Amino acid sequence: MPSTILAIAAHPGDGLFTMGAAAAQQIRSGGRGVFLSLSLGERGHPKIPPREYGELQRMATEKAAKQLGAKAAFLTYPDGEIPLGDEIRFAVCDQIREYKPGVVLTHWRGSWHKDHQNCHAIVQDAIFYAALPAIARKLPAHSVGRIYFAENWEDMTDFQPDTYLDVSAIYQTWLEACAAFPMWRGETGFRYNDYYRSLAVMRGCLSGFSFAVALMSSPEQREQRLKSL
Ligand SMILES: [Zn+2]
Repeated sequence: MPSTILAIAAHPGDGLFTMGAAAAQQIRSGGRGVFLSLSLGERGHPKIPPREYGELQRMATEKAAKQLGAKAAFLTYPDGEIPLGDEIRFAVCDQIREYKPGVVLTHWRGSWHKDHQNCHAIVQDAIFYAALPAIARKLPAHSVGRIYFAENWEDMTDFQPDTYLDVSAIYQTWLEACAAFPMWRGETGFRYNDYYRSLAVMRGCLSGFSFAVALMSSPEQREQRLKSL
């Protein structure tokens, strides 16, 4: 039985564009998917004021998550100023204990965006806290089975994928869900639509699937313990 995927991103678009197809595939296979965004990405539009854009981003995330059969959750730290510290680590720890994911997807650390770097670090620590029974919170401890890092155009320094996931069955649905975001259509400058739909084609070519998502597993999780090969 496929587990729950918890996709933890700095900004809502990162969650849906870089982790959304994997979450949708998990749901299609009988698992669950949750998108947790650490901010609303409210400062990302050149013309729409942050308060208004944040609400647009929230609505887009909820609409897209619903289309994929997933849940959307938000921690509304300020876009561009996602802090490092125990307050946010414990906030994410509580979300992990609430949704009990088997798999966590998040940003790779090799990013030029400080919110993405911080999200990567926060998630590692939150997974550690969530698993420790001695850390008493409202909910009991939960151990995440695996963590994977998503392929994101802003996080490509030293990104080396080792896992390819076939997302052909949900490719079209995922594209339709992403279209809920103004930024998907290029309104904020970068051509997200063209980039991520082509990326799934390219990763599909390399993996022998029609469409695929490439993920990077955590170096600590690559160890295998075998009695024979
Ligand atoms: Zn971002």
